[in-house]
Amino acid sequence: TAFSTLNLKPDLLSNLSSLGYEAMTPIQAQSLPHILAGKDVIAQGKTGSGKTAAFGLGLLDHLNVKRFRVQSLVLCPTRELADQVAKEIRKLARAIHNIKVLTLCGGMPFGPQIGSLEHGAHIIVGTPGRVEEHVRKGFLNLDDLNMLILDEADRMLEMGFQDALDAIIDAAPERRQTLLFSATYPKQIESIAKRIMYKPVMAKV
Ligand code: AMP
Repeated sequence: TAFSTLNLKPDLLSNLSSLGYEAMTPIQAQSLPHILAGKDVIAQGKTGSGKTAAFGLGLLDHLNVKRFRVQSLVLCPTRELADQVAKEIRKLARAIHNIKVLTLCGGMPFGPQIGSLEHGAHIIVGTPGRVEEHVRKGFLNLDDLNMLILDEADRMLEMGFQDALDAIIDAAPERRQTLLFSATYPKQIESIAKRIMYKPVMAKV
């Protein structure tokens, strides 16, 4: 299915064709219509499935660039994945001027991250431990967050990020859209989804 069948912002759509993205991958075709409709979505997809563009286009379509506040938060299990996700979001966002994507990962110095947060951002991509620390210490305010994305949720739980995730979710507004991507769907994921999502749609490929 072509991206042009979706009700995406024209800027995003024309950028997709310049990137050479024409047909949606199966996970994109299964999830994007629901994501763009504002629904909570659980999607099962591995790396290479095009999952990053699925949630990336969703968050970019909802974003108001004139409002310089953190509107979307993507949580990833590792710094490598967070960097990859941020890179893909920047690529998808090329047509939107002055958009700021900030990565906040553990293992990186804390001070420069505080400086970047003071300068502001629209989108944060990070690992749960470090993001939770910035929230707890008051450097990252989530009051304007309207989209929360858990990428590779199963791996985040395996890595022991459950408590950090819970604390971040507690600090996020209740009225928001939540997307959960996971390669596997064990009981633990099912129970977190029940707690943090509202009437989620299952997109399975
Ligand atoms: P991901 O599974 O998100 O890591 O994406 C895998 C790769 O596929 C990335 O390099 C994307 O740039 C690329 N990609 C994602 N969606 C599409 C698409 N619809 N058409 C062509 N390439 C895509």
